[in-house]
Amino acid sequence: MPRSSVTYAAPRLRPYQRQAVDNVIEHFRLSDDPAVVVLPTGSGKSLVIAELARLARGRVLVLAHVRELVEQNHAKYLAYGLEADIYSAGLKRKESELQVVFGSVQSVVNGLDDFTSGEFTLLVIDECHRLSISKEALARGAGNTEDDRRRSVSTYERVIARLREARPNLKVLGLTATPYRLGEGFLYHRHYHGMVKGPEDAFFRDCVFEQPLRVMVRQGYLAEPRRIDGALAFYDFSRLTPQRNGQFAERDLDGVVRGNRATPRIVDDVIERARDRQGVMIFAATVAHAEEVLGLLPGEESALVTGATPGPERERLIAAFKARELKYLVNVAVLTTGFDAPHVDVIAILRPTESVGLYQQIVGRGLRLSPGKTDCLILDYAGNPWELYAPEIAQARPDGESEPVQVECPECGFANTFWGKRDGEVVIEHHGRRCQGLVYRAQSRAKGAEPKSTRESAVGAGSGANASESAGSGAMKSQCTFRFRFKVCEQCGGENDIAARVCGQCGERLVDPDDKLRDALKLRHAKVLRVGGMQLTATTNGRGVPRLKVTYHDEDGDTLDEWFGLDTPGQRHVFERVFLRRHLRAPGSGWQPRSAEEAAEQAARLRAPDFVIGRKTGRHWRVDEKLFDYVGRYRTADTAAAEG
Ligand SMILES: [Zn+2]
Ligand SMILES: [Zn+2]
Repeated sequence: MPRSSVTYAAPRLRPYQRQAVDNVIEHFRLSDDPAVVVLPTGSGKSLVIAELARLARGRVLVLAHVRELVEQNHAKYLAYGLEADIYSAGLKRKESELQVVFGSVQSVVNGLDDFTSGEFTLLVIDECHRLSISKEALARGAGNTEDDRRRSVSTYERVIARLREARPNLKVLGLTATPYRLGEGFLYHRHYHGMVKGPEDAFFRDCVFEQPLRVMVRQGYLAEPRRIDGALAFYDFSRLTPQRNGQFAERDLDGVVRGNRATPRIVDDVIERARDRQGVMIFAATVAHAEEVLGLLPGEESALVTGATPGPERERLIAAFKARELKYLVNVAVLTTGFDAPHVDVIAILRPTESVGLYQQIVGRGLRLSPGKTDCLILDYAGNPWELYAPEIAQARPDGESEPVQVECPECGFANTFWGKRDGEVVIEHHGRRCQGLVYRAQSRAKGAEPKSTRESAVGAGSGANASESAGSGAMKSQCTFRFRFKVCEQCGGENDIAARVCGQCGERLVDPDDKLRDALKLRHAKVLRVGGMQLTATTNGRGVPRLKVTYHDEDGDTLDEWFGLDTPGQRHVFERVFLRRHLRAPGSGWQPRSAEEAAEQAARLRAPDFVIGRKTGRHWRVDEKLFDYVGRYRTADTAAAEG
């Protein structure tokens, strides 16, 4: 398709936009793997798309799920003085002749025959977090929005499949502000900063560029968020637990907010603090809650938008809000993405947010620049625990006290971020299982479960001293094999994930802890302790030599002991290998006691196993096996206590 010969005045890209474009081009020069670019709301994503479309040699299809986005992206492209087609039933245009086509996914999937010429070399998907990250995850997920989600997934998958049929080396690029899905995790596997984020089978292989929110604010591209603490009234959502899909149930939310006496005081507080402000967005927990809030706001200046608000009515209200005829706009989970009213300078959060990504999306509504606006007040009445700039962690938050902590890998030095706890500066507990660092394949040790990949052939394909910083180099690297928590294979000694069923190295089935317990319970000379506690004592053995005695006891007072010497380097090495590596609450932290006294004093750094199996040799019982991270059929003391 010939390029238009019209001269264009290319809009100036900001430095990070230029970098994003360069990284995408470099990635696709080396690889056909689908890639993701992460840009926060307000960072000018449309301009990045326009520049990529302009530079592409073949034809380009840019997909979005709503017509507003199709229009927005198309308009930015036209700003170059170039022409492009629109394929969207909602916009009453179904053109697919020009080099670049902006389409809505629903219309394109209904007219796929217009796109199967094989001329399309680049497919850009805006708001790509709507695609499922893997088929497995799709089968697992369930929830309110699942139907909707399933529909968009299958349409995107159909478009990709048809375009690929016509052109097998089609490049697929996704753009999003939130590369993460609740209950599922990151939608890409590798990040260009040298770390692993999402699952190995994620559709998008690489994140090739990410602009952090913090940097956008610091460089003045977004307004400063000013979080106000010390609200007099607030809601207590701390007892709610998310459903399996990671979201809170409407019924549970209503249980907290409905008729809550805090509501009138909260609304008064919002009005008071917003006195000299221009636009206020209020995020309510449920529809009933939103209606209650609306009833407490100045009627002539306020409106409510929910998922059930009819389209034309919604457009009218949003237009009135943007025109500042309305000061307060209450909504329930509908204005988190794609909504753009730059004058908003107060964000009031009256709902719990299930992830830092969602929290950032909500706050992001108030960070766009606008004349006369210097900052945005963030009023949180729901005790949301998130640091605005904290990284998202793929694992579910284990409990209310956990926070993101940095844990350096003892093997590759990568600074991992996991859920954990600190005592001052010292990380005393974390929940990381495997290092997320990316290392060159040649350096990864033979030990550890490395899945065989066809990408091995990419090794050595162009490299440089600073290759780790460049896009596309991800293909030469793989995840560091160091495991903080692991299950040892009894056949080959290999370390596996604590949830693995088959050894990643020898392929043997890993012995089920329930089988171990059942076998032990049958034996006369074995005993099984369901551990209720663990004591460390600095003492001496029969010959008066210093020893550390570790005593495990169950609820009935039955005990088993282990003894360790800590006086020589050899003894300490044994202790590290057979005890410390599995008992540390913050594995990999490098902490090692120099004496039995120090070990006993620092017992808070250690965790007890769930079960200990002892065997009788002669007159003595010795610890034969310890089971950690147990999730099987036999109740642990912890679950028994919770149930009883
Ligand atoms: Zn590592
Ligand atoms: Zn094995």
